[in-house]
Amino acid sequence: MPTHSNNSIEDRLYVLRTRWEHYVAQGHFEQFIEFAVAVNSLAEYFNRLRLPGLVRLCEGLENVALAKLGDLSTHPIPAQDIASLQRQLDALLGSVATSRSSASSRRIQEPSIATQEIDWIKPRSIWMIAAGERHDLANALRRQLQFFGFKVYEIDWGGEHLPKDKPLAVLFIPTGDATKPGELRFISAIRESSPASQLFYLGGQSAIEPIVDLMRAGIDVTIPAEDQPSMVLNCVLDLVQTNEQEQYRVLVVEDSRVAVALIQRTLAQHGIDTRAINDPGKLLDALESFRPDLVLMDMYMPRFNGVEATRVLRQMAAYSSLPIVYLSGESDVGMQVEALRLGGDQFLIKPFNPVLLAAVVKTRIERFRETRRSTRLDGLTGLLNHTAAKSRLDAMVRDGAHHNLTVAMIDIDHFKSVNDTYGHPVGDQVIRSLAWLLKGRLRSIDLIGRYGGEEFIIALPGISLEQATMVIDRIRTDFSGLPHAHPGGALYATFSAGVSPYPLVDTAAGLTETADGALLQAKRKGRNRVERHC
Ligand code: GH3
Ligand code: MG
Ligand code: MG
Ligand code: MG
Repeated sequence: MPTHSNNSIEDRLYVLRTRWEHYVAQGHFEQFIEFAVAVNSLAEYFNRLRLPGLVRLCEGLENVALAKLGDLSTHPIPAQDIASLQRQLDALLGSVATSRSSASSRRIQEPSIATQEIDWIKPRSIWMIAAGERHDLANALRRQLQFFGFKVYEIDWGGEHLPKDKPLAVLFIPTGDATKPGELRFISAIRESSPASQLFYLGGQSAIEPIVDLMRAGIDVTIPAEDQPSMVLNCVLDLVQTNEQEQYRVLVVEDSRVAVALIQRTLAQHGIDTRAINDPGKLLDALESFRPDLVLMDMYMPRFNGVEATRVLRQMAAYSSLPIVYLSGESDVGMQVEALRLGGDQFLIKPFNPVLLAAVVKTRIERFRETRRSTRLDGLTGLLNHTAAKSRLDAMVRDGAHHNLTVAMIDIDHFKSVNDTYGHPVGDQVIRSLAWLLKGRLRSIDLIGRYGGEEFIIALPGISLEQATMVIDRIRTDFSGLPHAHPGGALYATFSAGVSPYPLVDTAAGLTETADGALLQAKRKGRNRVERHC
């Protein structure tokens, strides 16, 4: 095994390669499944890092593998199928290698706070491909992106000389008329050369066909004209900030021990945490204590059946949208439809295909979490809201993995007068700019939350109090020099901050309280400064 930390990208690639080699050498069905599972888990990893191009390549490979899955009797698969899978695997590994080498060459240019070993540092360059008529928008975007620490390359439509630096994102800014075939070809070429990048198309399309064409060419997001450029900036900054994911949790309600063992083994291979109960009577207790993201429900159990249990859950507000997937030997279609009508989300037939089971479970949970996510984020800034920020800080302190942790409270100075002088909407934009600056400058492992109106909380793990204070002070200086547009010109704003270190203060509540105290000191001493609790 390589010497990298567990679950690093190296480990995942190593697992994928060796599982494939084992299958090629011995040709067992089981080995093929293991290989498909490794592809799927790599896709999920890239998805968490928001590397859509690599996700797509993994999914392509996974689809081919699933098509060849068959059963015990169809393995080993024919030599030409092995060759075609091999080609696709090589293409995937090649793309990962190119994206990585450009990522690690940028590592030295990252802000100096990146002292911890970080698995994958994202490139911070943006390619911008703008039509001549839209240079005003392009210039405005370039200035903003540069301010937030991105390196912007401008490329002509159809240009042949592409920068060596692989981009985090590519912004296509077309003339505004219908997309031309040549433009689509150019987009496809960029998609192919930069599989890990997010591609944005900044042009309003009102019909669905042109958007489908753009997506086929490789565009990830189209942004309507009226939402630019603030939306672009927000999307790009979101790419940098990957939120740490809690492990997925699945509750298995199943009376057959054999089925439970198979399900738990399959899901464990995908890093999914499971708990099993064999009696639906224990369902409510298990939901309460385990807080699953999904329930796998057997249809036939003693006392009452899966459909009846589901109907009960659907009547309870807390579980009305919890995903429920039935697992059953039932192959009667009428019965399946009935079960779905009564509140289930999907139906899987036993004996189940492990790859399909994992894919269904994971995509359902992703959707569920995405919906739930919107209740944890603040609408104006996209940062964690007050409640979510507090519970994240609790978790950071509780899990004790960090020897060092610095908490800071930040409050914009004399903000009332910004509102009074320039109006509430301008005030909102000032709040948003500070949020963006924090997102753009801090690492993905840092906590950033909107604590109240113009008050933010941040927590920086793994670096010393001195380093953390320097980082915050640097952001303070830069913020004070950031012009905020208002109808009559530009205004400047400042903030004050108070910081408090763990483990000198060793509870989440204590940390916020003492950081607040230090913030008050900063205000008293004249504002636009950072004070430490000591
Ligand atoms: P200080 O330097 O002491 O912090 O002075 P301040 O004027 O900033 O004082 P304070 O923190 O008490 O005032 C915050 C103001 O922020 C009050 C409220 O009207 C305004 N505010 C709160 N939330 C929002 C918001 O979402 N948008 C806008 N535009 N203003 C907000
Ligand atoms: Mg049963
Ligand atoms: Mg204030
Ligand atoms: Mg305040």
